[in-house]
Amino acid sequence: MAETGTFFDIAVIGAGIAGASVAAELSGAGIRTVLLEQESQPGYHTTGRSAAVYSPIYGPQPIRALTRAALGFFQTPPDGFCQRPLLSPIDAAFIARTDQLHHLEAMQQDLADAKTVHRVTGAELQERLPLLRAGYAAAALWDTGTSEIDVAALHQGYLRMFKAHGGVLITRAGVTALSRVADLWQIETPQGAIAAPVVVNAAGAWADALGQMAGAERIGLTPKRRTALMIDAPDGTDLRKLPLTIDIEEQFYLKPDAGKLLVSPANEDPEPPCDVQPDEMDIAICVDRIERAFGVCVKRVESPWAGLRSFVADKAPVVGFSKQVDGFYWLAGQGGYGIQSAPGIAQYAAAELRGAAVPAHILAENLDPASICPARAGLGQ
Ligand SMILES: Cc1cc2nc3c(=O)[nH]c(=O)nc-3n(C[C@H](O)[C@H](O)[C@H](O)COP(=O)(O)OP(=O)(O)OC[C@H]3O[C@@H](n4cnc5c(N)ncnc54)[C@H](O)[C@@H]3O)c2cc1C
Repeated sequence: MAETGTFFDIAVIGAGIAGASVAAELSGAGIRTVLLEQESQPGYHTTGRSAAVYSPIYGPQPIRALTRAALGFFQTPPDGFCQRPLLSPIDAAFIARTDQLHHLEAMQQDLADAKTVHRVTGAELQERLPLLRAGYAAAALWDTGTSEIDVAALHQGYLRMFKAHGGVLITRAGVTALSRVADLWQIETPQGAIAAPVVVNAAGAWADALGQMAGAERIGLTPKRRTALMIDAPDGTDLRKLPLTIDIEEQFYLKPDAGKLLVSPANEDPEPPCDVQPDEMDIAICVDRIERAFGVCVKRVESPWAGLRSFVADKAPVVGFSKQVDGFYWLAGQGGYGIQSAPGIAQYAAAELRGAAVPAHILAENLDPASICPARAGLGQ
């Protein structure tokens, strides 16, 4: 229970991967930081519902830059951060039917500089991916730069790092009111009131609602439901050799996961912020698309789930101080890429919040800070 009137330098709202990672970076830099989470369990919402993929060729340019910038942290986290590697390499295949080849060509052009990507013919693909129905795909882009992320180890590692540096995590502390009095935010929660000059909005799907509470601008965030489920792999499938397989138009994907197949219809259905649940229709569409593409007969659907991927219009994240109210920092709109980019975004945001320069390794990845700042054109619609 927080004491009424407790004072911190920075209050981070939302303890998913965005909030946990920036809070850890801040407390590591000696800043008195509190992390406020409405649920009893940090990671209950989108962070705990991802497909756990690290792909530096996926997403808009700013995300790709921040994801590349995150690689060093993933490969060499601070001492004691986790017990096992955060990344495990997995190949990825972006597959195209004959009628989709123009999408493959566009993607190949877009990824012309990506050294880990090459094109394979339908016959080569069939050899590498015998689970595919014969003749289904005409070609694919094959990527060797993809990995699986141990999301629980990453999230828990950040929370441990945060607490080890004196950070205070308060759960069941949904922020109900924010007001600015004499250069301080007064933050009301069921666990008591907190005061801090700076608030970081890492509220995931609720980020626009939290912004409204503070009197900040609207960024036009749209949470979109994505459903996933587990199915059995056909007998004899060598799961170690199976790539993450993605339809070139992102109509479905399939990934080996803990001895089973994780599949998704890759849907993006707008939803208000909520504890989103999978829809029966999403599941039926998923099964249909997977059975059409692969030699798989789905007899049983296991543990379907859904999560909200929250986007603004240009699909780039929104990271920076509000243009409308003082001391209000946006850390939102990570969409479908918030795990893979988290270490990069957290280092960027922590530097800006401390008044330090953008870290050189992030600028070296050609991140244009204007492309993620809340004042950019086109937000708020
Ligand atoms: C099916 C699916 C697959 C995905 N696959 C990938 C992938 O492979 N790779 C990848 O990088 N990304 C993936 N993502 C996206 C990724 O999961 C998100 O980008 C990321 O988890 C967003 O993190 P977050 O911390 O912003 O949001 P969240 O994890 O939702 O955290 C926000 C937190 O804020 C809290 N909160 C909200 N309002 C308040 C309030 N008023 N007071 C206090 N707390 C509040 C919430 O309770 C929540 O815990 C996927 C997402 C889904 C749904």
